[in-house]
Amino acid sequence: LRHLVLVLGDQLDGQSAAFDDFDPGQDAVLQMEVREEATYVPQHKRRLAFFFSAMRHFRDEQRGAGRRVHYSELDDPANRGTIPAEARRWAEALRPRKLIVLQPGDWRVREQLARLGWPIEFRADRHFLCPADAFADFAEEHPGLVMEPFYRFMRLRLGVLLDPDGRPAGGAWNYDTDNRAAFGRSGPPPCPRERSFAPDGVTRGVLALVERAFPHNPGRLGGFDLPVMRSQALAALDDFVEHRLGYFGRFQDVMRIGEPVLFHSHLSGPLNLHFLRPAEVLEAVIANPAGAPLNSVEGFVRQVIGWREFVHGIYWRFMPGYAEENALGADLPMPRFYWTGETDMRCLAEAIGHTIDHAYAHHIERLMVLGLFALLLGVRPYDVHRWHMSMFSDAIDWVSLPNALGMGQHGDGGVVGTKPYAASGSYISKMSNYCRHCRYDPHKALGDDACPFTTLYWDFLARHAPRFARNPRMKYPYVHLARKDADELAMIRRRAAALKTQLTAEAFL
Ligand code: SF4
Repeated sequence: LRHLVLVLGDQLDGQSAAFDDFDPGQDAVLQMEVREEATYVPQHKRRLAFFFSAMRHFRDEQRGAGRRVHYSELDDPANRGTIPAEARRWAEALRPRKLIVLQPGDWRVREQLARLGWPIEFRADRHFLCPADAFADFAEEHPGLVMEPFYRFMRLRLGVLLDPDGRPAGGAWNYDTDNRAAFGRSGPPPCPRERSFAPDGVTRGVLALVERAFPHNPGRLGGFDLPVMRSQALAALDDFVEHRLGYFGRFQDVMRIGEPVLFHSHLSGPLNLHFLRPAEVLEAVIANPAGAPLNSVEGFVRQVIGWREFVHGIYWRFMPGYAEENALGADLPMPRFYWTGETDMRCLAEAIGHTIDHAYAHHIERLMVLGLFALLLGVRPYDVHRWHMSMFSDAIDWVSLPNALGMGQHGDGGVVGTKPYAASGSYISKMSNYCRHCRYDPHKALGDDACPFTTLYWDFLARHAPRFARNPRMKYPYVHLARKDADELAMIRRRAAALKTQLTAEAFL
């Protein structure tokens, strides 16, 4: 055997750089389901099923295309259970001259493979639209590493949404002011149901395997309907562009009871496992067959070529130290209810319920409910990242660490965001219908019906005043804090301390 092309679970693209010189006559593919990747954090059953089903469909597609694929199923007695041990077992059996693998999406896995003791070639992953050297050049020229200039750099680099004279389409780079609609009296219009995909025989086999091998893991498998192959992901993309993109921009920060997806694309899973390519997502959104307004198109493009590429660049620039960062000294564990949804705070019960049922919650629930509460409480940032890796079907280390530890928890001290995403219950009240169905009052910080978010918000500002009070983007919160009566603030802080003790008494991890 000449080359053994190792395809990890988040590298499911048959046209990736790992296949550039693939010769079916002398090369083969290796895929492995290994127990260590399924257990190093307790994994949501739906997440496991999504990965295994997508991997098995990829295997079948590759075999259909005439490529030889060696595949380790999870319950094969010969399976050694970890990526390096299993890769070594196959290498010793097949004796390839070298292994080929794309740059993994996880620093830990890259280190394991680099120490494999078998010749291995890592190839740059051109799934990402900003190559490592381009990000390094940008970082040299913009040491502050702010997302907005990076996004403009990418628009120009890729020639996306530009007029012929090189200026931004519509005259502005960013239509965020049109994209912050509040929930309002009656909320956004009814949202069309997203396309769903009934499990085929391969997926049904995987669902049975996950139920058998991981009966006590968190999350639900019932109603599994995720796209698990490329043709389905392309159909899901068409469905989004046709039916939901139009309202995506305006309502992207809104949350509504019983709706985990709303107008979001829900394409992060297929994208992060690479059976959908960002370039084709961009093409479909810019073609815009249903005539979505520019603020929606631009807002979506910014997520794909701005945020997604930015956090990928940040991850590789700052790992491995990034995972250790804890700028705010947060030291509490995740409350147990993050795994069960058993809380009387309606917003958290909804967002966690969506996560348990679907292994998914949309971006604003992740950032401004789930992440926000952990930030205000003072949960260890790495633990929030671990929870993401446990519970979301689209979480990969490169995307989760900068989003959860960096953006959500400000653990990186301001690399991803220049201020913490701190807010009180009033923000959630404005952006959702959750508070109308909650026993707490989002505007109260004291009393039996005081919203825990609001109590903890004032405590957070007071606790971190030395760090944030002079941040120009935090000016108004600190003006309001300064107006608080000293006795009232002392009572708020006592209530916050009691909440922290009570809510973290029962930790899960
Ligand atoms: Fe959440 Fe507070 Fe609103 Fe209840 S009142 S839903 S706890 S923000």
